[in-house]
Order: sequence, then structure tokens, then C-alpha cells
Amino acid sequence: MRRLSIVLLVLFVFGSSAWGWWPRGHGILTRAAVQTLPADAPAFLRAGGGMVAHAAVDPDVAKNRGTLHLEKAGHPVHYFNMELFEAGDLPASRYAFGRLCAELGKRPEQVGLLPYVTAEYTEQLALAFAEFRKWPESPFIQNKCLIYAGYVAHFAQEVCQPLNLTIHWNGRVVDGKSSRTRIHEKIDGLLQNLDLKPEEIAEGLAAAPVDSLMTGIVAQMHRSFGEVESALSMEQYLVPKDVDWKNEPAVRAFAEKHAREAARFTVSLYLTAWKMSEKIRLPGWIDRGEMDHFGAQKK
Ligand SMILES: [Zn+2]
Repeated sequence: MRRLSIVLLVLFVFGSSAWGWWPRGHGILTRAAVQTLPADAPAFLRAGGGMVAHAAVDPDVAKNRGTLHLEKAGHPVHYFNMELFEAGDLPASRYAFGRLCAELGKRPEQVGLLPYVTAEYTEQLALAFAEFRKWPESPFIQNKCLIYAGYVAHFAQEVCQPLNLTIHWNGRVVDGKSSRTRIHEKIDGLLQNLDLKPEEIAEGLAAAPVDSLMTGIVAQMHRSFGEVESALSMEQYLVPKDVDWKNEPAVRAFAEKHAREAARFTVSLYLTAWKMSEKIRLPGWIDRGEMDHFGAQKK
């Protein structure tokens, strides 16, 4: 067991290069999600697919060695290794999670922080929506809603890439060693390599808010984790050099199924944030009208 944990440690320190869906994949999924929004969602958001899809790539842009602190902080937020932590009842904060990991002899970055970053950005979007409800004409508030919606999209979609939820992220781990088939990046690239169309992903898609944010995220993580075997089974098409996988129906069916699920979950979190924003009480010191105009309206 000790040997296994040392090997795993080495794997995660030196071998974790998982990226999640490739940039154009996030763009396709995010445009599909915005198109799926119901007619009573805010009009600026329904019209803002381009900006939201643009921002949805930023958490991957942040993986840059020229910005070391951001890169180091940002890396573990893109995954959660379900085998290393019982995700049934996650502590409420990253810090309590870190302490619990320490008690269990694990490091938070070894397990991953994906559920926390997903919840945190959904709540950030809920706050921006609450401000929008109060100052619906403010372009600044609308702009930041679009940016936060992009961040929510990125992490919601990472939750829906099954290989972001497992120690077998880069091929099955046997006796503590990864088979390193590079299956992760092959699946990450599927949506853009198959050139899936946002309008086809969005067709007939419907989403609902989750009742409780973290519970909903963890439930989706368990659904994705249930798809790990299916994802690994794609190795038979995607790993050998001589398979015409772009014309393989099983590969397309896999990509379409997970694209629809990722778009649906993205919308589900948008609707959750929108619902939360209804009950959020903004403190009295926030006066966007006056603050944003630097006193121009003062008498
Ligand atoms: Zn990512």
C-alpha cells in the first residue's frame, strides 16, 4: 500500500498533464449551453455566447509557466481523483478539505479541487446575477456575468470529462503504474476533432437547477465516474495508429453523449446560480449606480 501511494505520488507530481477538453471543445460546449438557456433567462446572457465561450478557455490559459503562482494554484482545480477520497460528504470549504486530506495522509493537490472551484465560481456568478437583478442596465455587471459564466462553464465541463475523475486518467493503473496510453488527451480532443456543432448538441436539450449546489456537483461527479470504463474502452479506437476513428460510430456516439451531458450540466449550474441570486441580499454599501459613475450623478 505504501509502495502504491509512493508510485501514485510520483505519478501525480510528474505525470499529471491532464488538460480537460481542448479549447475549441470548451467553446463548442459553452455555445451549446448558452443556446440551451430557457427563453426567460436574461437576454444579455442568451445573446452573450461568444463572450462566455471566450472566457470558458481562460482557466486553461492560466496554465502558463510565465505566471508561476497562478499555474501552481490552478493546476489541481481541473480534476478530482474519486478513488483517493470518499466524495460523499465533502467538507464545506477548501481549507477543511485540506485538513481532512492531511488527516488521511493525502495532499489536496493529489486528490484535486474540482468540486470546490466549480461551487465557488457558480456562487460568484450568483452574486453577479444578484447585482444584475438590482441594476439591470449596468453594462459592467452584464460583462462580469458573462466572464464568470465562462469560468463556470469550464469547470462544469471538466466535471463531465470522466477521465478527470479518476487515477486512471491517462490509461489504466495496474500495480501502481499507469499504462500511459494518452487516452486523456485523445478524449479531450474529441469534440473539436469531430467538429461537433453547438446547435446539434443543444437540440432538444433541457436542464434544471440543482436543489443544493455542492450536492448537485458531487452527484454529477459520481455520474461521470460511472463512465470511466466506457471512456477507457475508447482506447481500442483512439490509441492504435491504424484505426479510422473519426468514422467509427462508437466514438462519435461517445463524444455526442458526453458533449450533451456537459452542456446540460453547464446550463444546470447557470440556472442554479440564477435561482440562488433571487435570495441573495446585497449589503447596503454596494451602490453600483453611484460607484460606477465616480460621482458623476452627484449633486
Ligand atoms: Zn481545464
